[in-house]
Amino acid sequence: MTEQITTVSAYAAPAPDAPLERTTIPRRAVGEFDVLIDIKYAGICHSDIHQARDGWGEGIFPMVPGHEIAGIVAEVGPGVTKFSVGDRVGVGCMVDSCRRCENCAAGLEQYCTGGGNVGTYNALDKNGEPTYGGYSTHIVVDEAFTLRIPDGLALDVAAPLLCAGITVYSPLAHWKAGPGTKVAVVGLGGLGHMAVKIAHAMGAEVTVLSQSLRKKDDGLRLGAEHYYATSDDATFEALAGRFDLILSTVSAPLPLDKYLGLLRTDGAFVNVGAPEEPVSLSLFSVIAGRKTLAGSGIGGIRETQEMLDFCAEHGLGSEIELIRADQINEAYERVLASDVRYRFVIDAATI
Ligand code: NAP
Ligand code: ZN
Ligand code: ZN
Repeated sequence: MTEQITTVSAYAAPAPDAPLERTTIPRRAVGEFDVLIDIKYAGICHSDIHQARDGWGEGIFPMVPGHEIAGIVAEVGPGVTKFSVGDRVGVGCMVDSCRRCENCAAGLEQYCTGGGNVGTYNALDKNGEPTYGGYSTHIVVDEAFTLRIPDGLALDVAAPLLCAGITVYSPLAHWKAGPGTKVAVVGLGGLGHMAVKIAHAMGAEVTVLSQSLRKKDDGLRLGAEHYYATSDDATFEALAGRFDLILSTVSAPLPLDKYLGLLRTDGAFVNVGAPEEPVSLSLFSVIAGRKTLAGSGIGGIRETQEMLDFCAEHGLGSEIELIRADQINEAYERVLASDVRYRFVIDAATI
């Protein structure tokens, strides 16, 4: 695979709203600093669905989603120093960035101001070619954007950490979830269930705010101490002024004023969910109590490695349902119906 662009199997959305189907895509030749990864597993993130259905707009089609990739290094370029053939590795939401701006220098490649990071799919690479994601058998990635999966983590349960894990770890660390802090996680899906596990492992007192009590047993088993249904208005009265940090992983717009009422003075509501529609807000909800409303996007490469090491140390993998590639469309419908416990992971051998 060294000289030539290679063709590999993949699952792609040919157009917005069209079901994903098996196809072939080109992968670039292994360059000086590249690793060729034999993909073993790829997680299905709700962001894949937003993009495959063009809910965020400006999608590049055909689109091969997948930014929760775990596999084995099959070949390395001559300049590669971090990885060898046979290493267990992962790739998340980015495959490159400018590497020069202030944010890149600070390890915040996800906020690259030198043109933005290059997404693992649905983006144009530095060579102008579209990037294709993890729903495929192989990927070629620069070693600087390749992560090491620690031995203690199985590849299938590690794959979702590359997006779901880091997206919740980064704000939990930034807003200092830990002993003595009360953290609420809104939405118990792919991101939410990892937020419960990670916040609990950081030492915080965790509460799940879910639409119903349907998944209460799971939430408590994953590490939450309390579990409330947001469909019940009494929840918002009982928990008023309770939390230091609320992390919303919800994929749809939320009535923010109600949730901001659950923060204590100086508390922060941090949104990682990326709904397709705008939300409305009364600014009095943040004025009263000097509250913070913030957002957070994935995490940098250094922090992603730190998160993987943290998860290995604490024995935290994702709760997964392993599927064949021909079940992707069905899995998408189940995610949209909040019927996921708690991440679908594609067995790449079936692609
Ligand atoms: P997911 O598995 O579908 O989980 C979302 C959860 O939100 C659902 O399980 C459900 O939990 C809750 N929910 C769904 N619809 C709702 C509604 N109408 N009202 C209230 N709650 C609702 O999705 P995910 O993969 O975790 O991703 C969640 C969101 O984060 C997506 O929008 C995704 O694009 C975004 N995301 C952002 C980043 C970032 O960097 N900021 C990274 C990854 C993903 P309950 O059943 O418990 O209520
Ligand atoms: Zn994602
Ligand atoms: Zn940059």
